[in-house]
Amino acid sequence: MEIAIRTPLIHSLPLSQLSGSNVWLKMESAQPTGSFKLRSAGHICQHYAAQGAKAFVSSSGGNAGIAVAHSGRRLGLPVTVVVPETTSARARQLIEQEGARLIVHGNVWSEANAYALSLASHEHIYIHPFDNPLLWDGISTLIDEVISEGLRPDAIILSVGGGSLLSGIVQGLKRHQLSHIPIYAVETEGTASLNAALEAGERVTLDRVSGIATTLAASQVCENAFNVARRADVRGKVVSDDEAVNACRRFLDDHRVLTEPACGVSLSMLYDGKIGFKPDDNVLVIVCGGASVTLASLQG
Ligand SMILES: *Cc1c(COP(=O)(O)O)cnc(C)c1O
Repeated sequence: MEIAIRTPLIHSLPLSQLSGSNVWLKMESAQPTGSFKLRSAGHICQHYAAQGAKAFVSSSGGNAGIAVAHSGRRLGLPVTVVVPETTSARARQLIEQEGARLIVHGNVWSEANAYALSLASHEHIYIHPFDNPLLWDGISTLIDEVISEGLRPDAIILSVGGGSLLSGIVQGLKRHQLSHIPIYAVETEGTASLNAALEAGERVTLDRVSGIATTLAASQVCENAFNVARRADVRGKVVSDDEAVNACRRFLDDHRVLTEPACGVSLSMLYDGKIGFKPDDNVLVIVCGGASVTLASLQG
């Protein structure tokens, strides 16, 4: 059984014309739960189900929690998602829609996470939102799909929160001898934990995270993401919240797909001309998606 689906790879005429290169979109927004997180959650849940897991526990009120809820439903195993009070009504609704048990606990994520961990056991498996090699394995299949369609990218643009997407993409590129290609790793100003770490030369923890891109709001990237970012040609980029939201708006008009600001940061690289490419370059943008966004929330 496949939980995550093979997503479309689309040549974007508007973004190609705008950037003066060939822009390709990997449409992770088309996953059943609206983001690439279904690749990681689906893979890890399937792995543990095969080993006899009886239930799953998550503490993510975002796309990771929704993806675990979906994966559990598909595997016929119960899922509990513990979220803090700050989690939006929309996100709660999406988790419950997948049939998961929703527990609201604590004022901040660390309190919800501690409670989720206390529920975990040998058979009740805790699923981390971004820091586990099994998550990255699941994400790496995205690159297999791109290569199987005959595209060998010259550059990749992706968003960074805790760093599972970056980790998985680097892993997929390595499998296809593409470790040398530049990866533009994009964050918002208020969530720039990877950029801060690259500048400092060591993993740092941000005192506070802020802004609209809550999906990117990990105060520290996972160790693997930092290590691969130093070894590979990873170029950190930072955009403002306004730039991220405007990119979502323009993308909605150009490609008729609604994405979270967490995805808009990557699109902003092209809409706001932040990177120069050559006419022959094939630029792959990971349209990471996002489930909790609504037209009203983007306008607000
Ligand atoms: C999780 C997520 C990110 C960030 O991914 P990390 O693996 O945490 O770096 C970006 N965009 C969307 C839509 C996500 O769901």
